Amino acid sequence: MKQKTPGTNEWNRRDWLRVVGLSGLAAGSLGSAGARSQTVGESGHFQSSVIARDVVQAQRAEAMLIDGRVIQPRRELPVLAQTDVLVVGAGPAGIVAAIAARRAGAKVTLVERYGHFGGLWTGGLVLLILGHIVKGPKQVCQGIGEEIMQRLDGMEGAIINRRKGQNPSVDAEAVKYLMVEMVEEADIQVFLHCWGVNAVVQDQTVRGAVFESKAGRQAILAKVVIDASGDGDIFAAAGAEFEHRSHNIGLVSRIANLDRIDPDRAADAPQPRRLGSVTPVAGVNWVNLTGPEADGLDLATLTRMELNHRKFIWKDIQKTRRIPGYENVYLAETAPQLGVRITRVLDGVNRIRFDALKNHISYPDVVGVGGASNAEHGEWQIPYGSLVPETVDNVLAAGRCVSAEARMADLVRLIPNCFVTGHAAGVAAAVAVQQGCRPREADIGRIQKMLRQQKAYLG
Ligand SMILES: Cc1cc2nc3c(=O)[nH]c(=O)nc-3n(C[C@H](O)[C@H](O)[C@H](O)COP(=O)(O)OP(=O)(O)OC[C@H]3O[C@@H](n4cnc5c(N)ncnc54)[C@H](O)[C@@H]3O)c2cc1C
Repeated sequence: MKQKTPGTNEWNRRDWLRVVGLSGLAAGSLGSAGARSQTVGESGHFQSSVIARDVVQAQRAEAMLIDGRVIQPRRELPVLAQTDVLVVGAGPAGIVAAIAARRAGAKVTLVERYGHFGGLWTGGLVLLILGHIVKGPKQVCQGIGEEIMQRLDGMEGAIINRRKGQNPSVDAEAVKYLMVEMVEEADIQVFLHCWGVNAVVQDQTVRGAVFESKAGRQAILAKVVIDASGDGDIFAAAGAEFEHRSHNIGLVSRIANLDRIDPDRAADAPQPRRLGSVTPVAGVNWVNLTGPEADGLDLATLTRMELNHRKFIWKDIQKTRRIPGYENVYLAETAPQLGVRITRVLDGVNRIRFDALKNHISYPDVVGVGGASNAEHGEWQIPYGSLVPETVDNVLAAGRCVSAEARMADLVRLIPNCFVTGHAAGVAAAVAVQQGCRPREADIGRIQKMLRQQKAYLG
């Protein structure tokens, strides 16, 4: 059967309406004044076909129960793709790493376990950009991170408070949209709904990663892998040393109708405790529930946190709605992604250190400069060694899992600082590919030159 693609000449309005499940009549009336009362639901002219009959899954390797133990046999995996730079995780660090590597000339494949880009920034509803400024105030997050900010600036309703020394807030859907646009412009190969579960390793050298998806278990081979999973899933699987840390695990939500609080009735009432912070949408705030310190790698803990936080957030908003004047406030959404802050942190050949921040230490292999919120610190340099594992080769860390002292974690993990380490990892990976060497041997002068060409700030 001939396939039709949206955007081609063969695709007319009737086809489009049929695909989105709207009859011509119902869709035609959407724009009318009565649109709000229309019910356009799951009805219409759907299409469904049998793709293949009597299928037995290829590449089966079912786990077997042998003497009460679950045994998975060895098996050959299909290779889904071969690439220069494989980026695992499409959060702030992964997106920037992928774009940077591509712009530096490498063929790039980006893999993400969820169906959208942005990581905790969008899926976790972390809408406030902190950490791009230092005393002065001076903005140290430049390069692709700043380009993202500028492009959000040009979009209606995407970002607010983009002023010198201020911390802007974004709309998560605008960010998701922009990330798609930028990834497509850069011509990056993408696989969504694809969870990195293992590393492909040969002689302490990473050659790719293994992924689980609805299509089964497959491998992607690469010259360099960037682990931007936030949790170091790939470098840990490859045998790189790391520190396993706990941190507060929360859940963010958005509440709405804050512009419909009745000021007269609210005047004498107690103030609700959690009204959150502004977003670009009028009357909608994001609420950051810090949550208790816990292990973000433990499945039972993650499950308990998710369930408890959801109960708490719902009950909390009901309490708010019982306060005079606040009756219209409601819970718009809870983040689909749990707020896990820190789990695995790489043991790198160097480490981002607190004394380097205090004493303004500079590194010959500087690949970025970090900032803070509210400009309370000076510049602190990020050495290339903080992205490079001590022993394992061909994998670089980017984002909240880079090598850093525990005291620095709360700065390192801020979104702009993840942009910066992502940018550095992407360029370094591309340089290693060009030079045909291991990332730890890549020419640091060339990495720094290319980062500056891509407008990164290195101090
Ligand atoms: C509750 C909370 C509040 C915060 N508040 C702020 C704030 O106000 N301002 C600020 O600047 N920062 C804040 N942060 C920190 C910031 O949001 C994160 O540290 C930052 O998003 C980390 O970016 P990242 O790219 O390193 O990781 P993440 O954002 O975690 O992105 C990792 C990506 O990798 C994907 N992934 C993970 N594992 C795999 C795998 N195995 N295979 C494939 N894909 C995978 C994930 O789905 C995700 O898309 C907050 C964090 C939390 C949790």
